[in-house]
Amino acid sequence: MPENLAVINCSQLVTLAGPRRPRVGAELRQLSIIEDGALFVRGDRIEIADRRREVERLINDDCEVIDAGRRVVMPGFVDAHTHPVFAGLRANEFEQRASGATYREIAARGGGIRSTVRATRNASLSDLVEISKRYSEWFLRGGTTTIEAKSGYGLTIEDELKILRAIKQLAEETPLSYVPTFLGAHDIPSEYRSRRATYINLVINEMLPRVATEKLAEYCDVFFEADVFTTEEAWQILSAARCHGLGLRVHADQLTLSGGAKLAAELNAATADHLEHTDAAGIAALKTANVQPVLLPGSVYALGSQQYPAAREMIEAGLGVVLATDFNPGSSPTPSMPMILSLACTQMKMTPAEALTAATMNPAYSLGRGDQIGSLERGKRADFVIHDCEDYRELAYFFGVEHASLVYTSGKPAFSRNVSEARP
Ligand SMILES: [Zn+2]
Repeated sequence: MPENLAVINCSQLVTLAGPRRPRVGAELRQLSIIEDGALFVRGDRIEIADRRREVERLINDDCEVIDAGRRVVMPGFVDAHTHPVFAGLRANEFEQRASGATYREIAARGGGIRSTVRATRNASLSDLVEISKRYSEWFLRGGTTTIEAKSGYGLTIEDELKILRAIKQLAEETPLSYVPTFLGAHDIPSEYRSRRATYINLVINEMLPRVATEKLAEYCDVFFEADVFTTEEAWQILSAARCHGLGLRVHADQLTLSGGAKLAAELNAATADHLEHTDAAGIAALKTANVQPVLLPGSVYALGSQQYPAAREMIEAGLGVVLATDFNPGSSPTPSMPMILSLACTQMKMTPAEALTAATMNPAYSLGRGDQIGSLERGKRADFVIHDCEDYRELAYFFGVEHASLVYTSGKPAFSRNVSEARP
């Protein structure tokens, strides 16, 4: 099998080459597209992303050649916020919400996250891996090559560790890359409702040390919301996580303005996620502390809300905006980054170019991997996708369509779909 790979005849090679930091302001619209570009891959790394003739002169017998057929070639999507390991589905609650029940009413009846926690506790490690492999493939076929993956449906030491071990096994056994995040503070489990301090203690003094010792997570996250965890509790958990060397991410201001953006800024978190209710003061705090906002329009859409985060204000404030799916069984059951691009453009008035940067380069930086993934540049991991369209804007413009026809991770084929030979 040839060591090298050349991808030629790309209508647009969308490289995202540029400054080695999160893109802000007008930089979000600069995709560094090479018309009639080509890619040369050696092993698992990109060697050249350039004009066709620069790549063609390197092609020899030890090189596999892929003709992209005048299609778009770009880096794999990096999805910086997902909850991809869980058992059970919540299609019944979806039906109840369609019939008028609210998310909070369903939660009060013991549904919502608590039903997923029950099912996930009852599943074995191997059950969870098998269930989640189905979702791995969904990410890949949408053109996503790296996801951040949170625990948070176990809420006991053993069940949280089980989920993080499932994530580790999925990273080893599937072509998708996973960045693990510990979310033991996703909710106060039912059995601790009357003694919440005991649960906070458990997270800080028992779960976090085990997660850190076994190197099962790179980040720690807290679901910081008025009726879930208080400011003081979130502060304690995140500070303890930082002492264990974990990076910080925060679910912030999703349902109410609870000061999540401010907290993320004060703790120098890598990201503040959701931000549907964040105000101008919160945006300014994120800017001062260099926290990247992770916007999750899929959950706004799926909950039937109109309250999308203020993406334009955040771009104007100079934040390194990120888009992600929030894939989870309750509020955002989609693994599709193209769907998120569509929502970003139609509901949050981002341009297709801004949305693309927020789905590749900026999330890579938010995960501490800006030097490895997120763009097609020399030395980076060969995670790239051929999309069955001629112009990158079609990815956001056509919605409900999966365009990814060939997906490569680390220079190896990870997913392919039959499409007609050449474009009309
Ligand atoms: Zn989430």
